[in-house]
Amino acid sequence: MTPEELESAKKALLDMRREVLKEVQEAMAEYRELGGEALPDISDISANANSRDVLLNLGQNQRQKLRDIETALERIAEGEYGNCMRCEEEIAAQRLKVRPFSRYCIECKTEIEKYGE
Ligand SMILES: [Zn+2]
Repeated sequence: MTPEELESAKKALLDMRREVLKEVQEAMAEYRELGGEALPDISDISANANSRDVLLNLGQNQRQKLRDIETALERIAEGEYGNCMRCEEEIAAQRLKVRPFSRYCIECKTEIEKYGE
């Protein structure tokens, strides 16, 4: 990966993170307006997972995405970004462009979906 590619991946990830956080905050504000209990922070959403499924499903997906984004940002900092976390081959640039937070190359991803991690 070139420094330019890394830089633009990092920018895309930071944009995505901001976007996800905004969605979560809006959903939480809406939840409170509907008379729900205050949810102090994102990590507590799962504790309330029995009710308000729409919001909470959103919360869960967003949380997973945030984790993936954080991992990708850490890997950029460590200079390991762009390599598959399973086989350590380079992940296709096209795949990273569509999903900059990809942890695995497409082959490993397919196998993990079939057989588990
Ligand atoms: Zn792989």
